[in-house]
Amino acid sequence: MATKYGGYMGRVCMVDLSTGKVCDYPWSDEERRLFIGGKTMAAKILGDNIAKDTKPLSEENMLVITTGPFTGTGTPSSSRFNISTLSPQTGIITSSNCGGNFGYYLKKAGFDALIIKGRAKAPLWLEIHNNSFKFHDARDLWGMNTGKVQEALDEVIKTRNGKARKNGKIVIGPAGENMVRYASIVSNERLAGRGGTGAVMGYKNLKAVTVSGNHEIQVHDRKKLDKLNKSWFKYLKSHPLTGDQLPRLGTAGLVSTMQMRGQLSTKNYNYGQYDDFEKVNGELLAEEFNIVNKGCLSCPIKCARTVEVNGKAVKGPELETLGLLGGGILNSDMYSILKWNYELDELGMDSISAASTLAYAMEANEKGLWDNGLAFGQTDEISQVFDDIAHRRGIGDELANGSKWLSEKYGGKEFAIHSKGLELAAYEPRRSVGLGLGYAVSNRGGCHLNGGYMVLLEGLSLNVDQQNPHGKPDFTVMFQDLMEAVSSCGQCLFTTYAFFPAPLISHPNSWYTKAFCKSVPYLGPVLRALNTFPQVACIHIPVLFNQSIALHHVTGMPVTFGSFFKAGKRGYTLERHINTRFGISRKDDSLPSRLTDEPQIKGDEKTKVPLEPMKSVYYAARGWTGDGIPKPKTLKKLNLDGLASYEDACKMFAEEKEGE
Ligand code: SF4
Repeated sequence: MATKYGGYMGRVCMVDLSTGKVCDYPWSDEERRLFIGGKTMAAKILGDNIAKDTKPLSEENMLVITTGPFTGTGTPSSSRFNISTLSPQTGIITSSNCGGNFGYYLKKAGFDALIIKGRAKAPLWLEIHNNSFKFHDARDLWGMNTGKVQEALDEVIKTRNGKARKNGKIVIGPAGENMVRYASIVSNERLAGRGGTGAVMGYKNLKAVTVSGNHEIQVHDRKKLDKLNKSWFKYLKSHPLTGDQLPRLGTAGLVSTMQMRGQLSTKNYNYGQYDDFEKVNGELLAEEFNIVNKGCLSCPIKCARTVEVNGKAVKGPELETLGLLGGGILNSDMYSILKWNYELDELGMDSISAASTLAYAMEANEKGLWDNGLAFGQTDEISQVFDDIAHRRGIGDELANGSKWLSEKYGGKEFAIHSKGLELAAYEPRRSVGLGLGYAVSNRGGCHLNGGYMVLLEGLSLNVDQQNPHGKPDFTVMFQDLMEAVSSCGQCLFTTYAFFPAPLISHPNSWYTKAFCKSVPYLGPVLRALNTFPQVACIHIPVLFNQSIALHHVTGMPVTFGSFFKAGKRGYTLERHINTRFGISRKDDSLPSRLTDEPQIKGDEKTKVPLEPMKSVYYAARGWTGDGIPKPKTLKKLNLDGLASYEDACKMFAEEKEGE
């Protein structure tokens, strides 16, 4: 193995679809230590290889598929893998953390990551088994939905080998083939949903990749890791969020709380409450539609719902889909949402962007800006509209470009609900101003998780004042960095919910919970010290935050909570540093004016997002300039000063082209 660290297979492979060449990509132990894996590793690889004029749909763009050191080691909720690329939706870096089993089997094949560049001349699929790479004609698979193509691939593999072979798959559906800007990549029933990863795969004429193998995944200290995992599973199962709320209601369980707090996007974010929310909430989903809870590999939380659509057991919707295809378009029919959710998965399309684009189109029609036949509350034709988007037929061809593109063509930028071109999830930020900041500054565009998920404190689990901006920028920085580090290990972000001690959550009216919530606006300076000097926390935080301990047991690296936190900070800053190559700065960390200029409650000026002042504090907490550019000394502190600048990257590409 080409690494001294456990948890890694020690190899990264690169496939060039234009030439059919396969080679090892150099990745050192120093890079493993600094960039861990997952999205941070992917950002480093992209940062070293893409120039400022690289287009998302081009041979030069890469799909970088990474695992983390936890993937496949038995650590809770750690079957995750990540896909990063330049997004056709936003033009900047996007990353998607996905369940399914592809990550596990990629490691079984002997690789920590797979880089795909170039473009095949005709549709193909790639079969990787241990060290063998085979390219197969995929013309007979082209056009198939994501479920059908995964079944077909299993059949082909079985026929070729005379018996079934356990494998992991990533595939695209018609939306990816037709380069819908928000097409997803699918693995089992899970999606690398956001930012149009599926369109990049479609552009490359790559219908699917299968991986399998029989390599052992070694860890540094199996005995200590098993002991830790045992108590960690137990803790997650006992926590009110990861052991009760998520298993019992899934993410859909948040609908009712959001309604109560005025955070449930309704009628394209015109309002924060939906009168019929009880017809489309998590409680109803659990009581009347959920057949059984499902989960990703090695996950004690099992947050996924299973529902019946047309007599078939399929994956149920998440909160974002339920909110945006429910109150978001004034639809109170639960079954229709289950059906559309399934159809969108089968077409290989991000339900958040699809639903939000639809809501924009309905409002544009209502306001007389675009005569498209779509209207709030009219849902009979929605299945057909989604199919038309995936196949780029009729108005579907324009809807396939997303709400930013549409608002630039038809007007209505104030109600095209996106940031940097990526549509927002179902949380209404005017009643969660910290999340409003997070949506705006998030590296991949309007993403609640990449934005730090402050709404968890602002009403979903704790009662921190939703409208008070003080303290929120520093909390946002801390949560973004910790989630970045957890994600880079290959672990699901839902495990971080257990970071909040159980009594805080289960006793909302206790003096200590109230005291904590009231103290948040004053904690900024304390967190600022930690955000500036993360390494001073040279301790572990057992039970609440086992990740840093686990990273040591898995890899053997010297790790503390502080160095773990710093690694997350490094990853987050790295993505920003790369995005500045594409012109991203303060002006792009924005929200539509509906959310920043129009109070949600008429006459109550506090119910809008005070974005600009929060951004200034946020940039200072990150060590960025007032324009949102990481300062050279910040880059140096995070060991990012040696990263190829965009000038270097441009030069590198020019030399490569000359060489050809
Ligand atoms: S919490 Fe849910 S999404 Fe995360 S690993 Fe478990 S089942 Fe998968």
